[in-house]
Amino acid sequence: MLFKDIESLRFGYESNLLRIIAAQLGSEFPRMGHDKAKHLLDARRKALLGDAVRVTAYLLPDVHEAYCSCLDILGGGLKGELFVQQSKEYNANVFAHGKKFDVLIHSALLNDFNREELRFVFGHELGHVAFEHSRFSVHDILSETKGISPDTANLLFRWSRASEVSADRVGLLCCGKLTTAVTALFKTASGLSDIDMDRILRSFRRQYEDLEIQIREVSSDLSWVRTHPMMPIRFKALELAALDIVALRGQSGSFSWKGFRAIDRQIADILEAIDATV
Ligand SMILES: [Zn+2]
Repeated sequence: MLFKDIESLRFGYESNLLRIIAAQLGSEFPRMGHDKAKHLLDARRKALLGDAVRVTAYLLPDVHEAYCSCLDILGGGLKGELFVQQSKEYNANVFAHGKKFDVLIHSALLNDFNREELRFVFGHELGHVAFEHSRFSVHDILSETKGISPDTANLLFRWSRASEVSADRVGLLCCGKLTTAVTALFKTASGLSDIDMDRILRSFRRQYEDLEIQIREVSSDLSWVRTHPMMPIRFKALELAALDIVALRGQSGSFSWKGFRAIDRQIADILEAIDATV
């Protein structure tokens, strides 16, 4: 139902980086071929059926219902199953070929996240599907493209980070509440549960402000930011976009594309400031 609007949710900075990367790599820009992607999807499915456990309505009705509700919200004929694998790490991943995919979630998330928070996690993974982030892999481009410049490699990492902001927006679209999305991010970053919402929001806001000062004013080596998950920035990006995304979900008509692009610029600014220092 909402699928037609999804592209507009893509983080503007991600779209810009994609354009620059395509221009730099030209005809070498290796979007994954149809056959290879299908092969990878099939191989992954075989591995999941062999090594993970499929989440069905019979096995875990609540979790399955939360997952299906995200698929319903997005619509657009997305077709994929959910698998769980034992792991204490809060992590999930997806590989897609067109509208077909499988989501793998680690058991710690199912044990420690409530149904609403899981909707954010599922929505985030489905966001990667909707935005076709599997159509090329940074790893493949770096390993298969000869003579790739450090500048292009840097752009690819920047794109990969920016794509997380796009996926988070679909996570919020699916769970429908900023506080739920923020709690999910907080739990993932800290490993802590049962912390008061006000404390979480204030802590994230302050940490974002301090991070911004650190990035803009302290001209030290910030290469650590490159691989850091940047939770405070993901938090800020969600906080700024929340009203519009919740309006879009409720189809209240108060969604503002113009305001949304202004939010994009604000978050792009901070990421560019990081990128300028590495
Ligand atoms: Zn992600």
